[in-house]
Amino acid sequence: MHFTVRGGLGRTSTVKALEHASLRLRRGRIVALVGESGSGKTTLARLFALMYTPTSGEIRLRGEPVGPRRGRAAREYYSEVQMVFQDPFASLNSMHTVRHNLARALRIHGRAGRDDIEERMHALLERVSLTPTRDFIGKLPHELSGGQRQRVAIARALAVGPKVVLGDEPISMLDVSMRLDILNLLARLRDEEDLALLYITHDIAGARYLAEEIHVMYAGQMVEGGPTEEIIQNPQHPYTRLLLGASPDPARTLTPGGSSVFADVEDSGEPPNLTDPPPGCRFHPRCPFATDSCRRAFPARTELPTGQWVHCWLYPSGAST
Ligand code: SF4
Repeated sequence: MHFTVRGGLGRTSTVKALEHASLRLRRGRIVALVGESGSGKTTLARLFALMYTPTSGEIRLRGEPVGPRRGRAAREYYSEVQMVFQDPFASLNSMHTVRHNLARALRIHGRAGRDDIEERMHALLERVSLTPTRDFIGKLPHELSGGQRQRVAIARALAVGPKVVLGDEPISMLDVSMRLDILNLLARLRDEEDLALLYITHDIAGARYLAEEIHVMYAGQMVEGGPTEEIIQNPQHPYTRLLLGASPDPARTLTPGGSSVFADVEDSGEPPNLTDPPPGCRFHPRCPFATDSCRRAFPARTELPTGQWVHCWLYPSGAST
């Protein structure tokens, strides 16, 4: 996904926001997309939500390519794929009550008629544990706490009966005390609704708590992914090791003698400007293992016997650990 941006004096430049990205979501599973801000996580979710048209590449739903859609075709897609945004206050219509916000989603997608709409709205509030539901249904968004607002936003996403929910940092604007509640709610919905859930976060500890798979992004490139515990205990890509090193976790394995297994990668810089990113592996200016190959070309994907995959010249394609 490349974006053209206009600067002063009519000049334009291209932001190379996302390259070499491939991600598959499956029903009943949560995939976490982890990386610093500007790494391309939200761009990828917005592509899935058809908010952008990819510069190249393809989005498929059940194996069928999905192109740009409008009107009824777009509604059909959104009845299967819903997004939950970071800021629940901005994503709900602040002038209207919870009832209005839910009723609108139900009506637009034909999920309720005049006779059962009230019942369906109460059922939605129950599914996100806003009970007793009569205490919430008439409230305006500003009369709710941040956690309650995010539950309403999730209920609205569920109103259409989606198969896929894209959560773009859904807990990052909430008080710490509410974050675990929302994570537990998402886990429960995965199990009860058999949802395919994308969970975008910069917090790898939260990703570990919630997701079956973690995929790591750096500066618009996907660098490593695989089963959650393999990524946490046995990270292969130097950037993943850096990320984990910055997120101390007593449950993670330490080498004998007590030093971190991630001590070989130190933080020595900032992510690049995506209007002029470094060629090859974009992590190379920060990577202590960088070679000429890293500066020349982005490495192919190497599948590892652990179920992980990695894009790094330290692992020639087909190599095993
Ligand atoms: Fe480091 Fe090269 Fe691997 Fe990139 S490809 S992470 S620069 S070793």
